[in-house]
Amino acid sequence: MSQFNPLQKYFRQPKIFIGLPSKGLYYEPGALQGDYNNVPVFAMTGMDEILMKTPDALFSGESVTKVIESCCPYIKKGTKIPSLDVDALIIAIRIATYGDKLTVGHTCEECNTENEFEMSLGSLLEHFSNISFVNTVPINESLTLKIRPLSYEEMTYFSLENFKLQKTLYQAANLEDENKKQEQIDAIYNNLADIQLQLFLTSIEEVQTPDQPVKDKATIEEWLRNTDRDVYAIIKAKLEENKDSWGIPKQAVKCSNCGADHSLTVTLDQSNFFA
Ligand SMILES: [Zn+2]
Repeated sequence: MSQFNPLQKYFRQPKIFIGLPSKGLYYEPGALQGDYNNVPVFAMTGMDEILMKTPDALFSGESVTKVIESCCPYIKKGTKIPSLDVDALIIAIRIATYGDKLTVGHTCEECNTENEFEMSLGSLLEHFSNISFVNTVPINESLTLKIRPLSYEEMTYFSLENFKLQKTLYQAANLEDENKKQEQIDAIYNNLADIQLQLFLTSIEEVQTPDQPVKDKATIEEWLRNTDRDVYAIIKAKLEENKDSWGIPKQAVKCSNCGADHSLTVTLDQSNFFA
């Protein structure tokens, strides 16, 4: 390619600028370059759009990271984006490409009317700028955990593993042989416990004790394997709390026909969000 492209001045320009909900925290060095508070976002190119519609790439999360890197040049490594920023970036790209309005269809459970509701994606973005990630988990008087959000890559890994387990659980439930069935279900629950442990270990950056902070993963793993179930429950609840508060808030809507109130879940499933 030549050094100077006479078409360069006609290249796409940033459509909007956003502040990253993570405030630039939790990126590994080099994964984000530029001011986190003023991130330029471009509209998708034709190639991005094709990528977004490729089912295989969607499933692995590959197309999402590629499209984010393409539309947000400040993001150098899409796989390393903290989960906190993923939804906001996807919404921003949607706004930059197709505008602020998103139409969501919903069938009223009361009267079966098919409603269409228009949402403002800009106001969803607002929501993300107003929440914070709780990064400490007090366990008891002596122990406090420091946690971090998952990266996009880790998030994709865990949801894929969960998906696989749910599929095998479903298959096991249909087995006729009771012994085989029980054997398989036991194995699945063991896997589930392993994944849970992996998720904890990935999320925990440090265990603070009155004596010293502990960062070594193997040391933390040994502690997790030798601790009461209550501790597990506390960690699990805190991780879920963060996950919930970082989800997209449900939208209150009214049926156009019977006036029934509904609370609508808006999903950012890329396959329909970008369709
Ligand atoms: Zn209705």
